[in-house]
Amino acid sequence: MSNVLLWFIVILAMEDKNPSSDSITFLGTAGARFTVTSQVLASGGLWLNLNDTEILIDPGPGCIVQSTKRKLRADKLSAIILSHRHLDHSADVNIMVEAMSQGGLKRRGWLFAPADALETEPVIFSYLKSYLEGIEVLKEGKSYSIGNISFTTPIRHIHRVETYGMLFRTGEHTFSYIADSLYFDGLCHSYGGELLIINVVRLEANHPYDHLSVPDAEHIIKELKPKIAILTHFGMTMWRAKPWQVAERLSQETGVRVIAARDGMRFDLSQLDDI
Ligand SMILES: [Zn+2]
Repeated sequence: MSNVLLWFIVILAMEDKNPSSDSITFLGTAGARFTVTSQVLASGGLWLNLNDTEILIDPGPGCIVQSTKRKLRADKLSAIILSHRHLDHSADVNIMVEAMSQGGLKRRGWLFAPADALETEPVIFSYLKSYLEGIEVLKEGKSYSIGNISFTTPIRHIHRVETYGMLFRTGEHTFSYIADSLYFDGLCHSYGGELLIINVVRLEANHPYDHLSVPDAEHIIKELKPKIAILTHFGMTMWRAKPWQVAERLSQETGVRVIAARDGMRFDLSQLDDI
């Protein structure tokens, strides 16, 4: 056996045994109308790989493009979770169900969504439902499991449609995803963990829309004190303010390491172990 081949096998074996391969890939960082419709930022959602269980959250417009471009394979997904039915969180759910089930050839994967995304005007086509192993309705205060991963939807958010964030527990890490909401104290009482991912659409507070702003995010980060906070889901006011500069300022003001997500950024959860 050549030395090169031997080295290649050793590298492969090391990668297989890497216990800290848990990661979150940001398929897009656009939030709300204008950053999404202009695609100044991508809008594909979050792709989790946790203990080899792969989960897609909020497949917004372009998810199929962003995921295939990054060689993330939908036929390895165990589940798709929608925080709510708004277009920037659900537009590609149908094509992602098609891809997860290999065009319906294999009945596989679960869909988790609030009731109002599934009832009167469902975000998923009827014929695609039969491609899934099942559909679970998200409800306030409930726990769910996907393989060896569990998550809860601790509180209903204040948003125009039924909306939930998620608190995930893997064997090694806990982290929260705070989806769209108007700020209310229940957010600080309901979420936690080592990592906080927050949808921060707006730069300024005191706006009429039911989205979080930078002052809201600062307050939540100070209250929850995660090891790392990641800002994402930027509207135009955030994008113009350069999210990475906003994150830098929030790091100084909160004492917590705050990162602005970038399109395609892969966050390795093992970074949490070094803090
Ligand atoms: Zn929304």
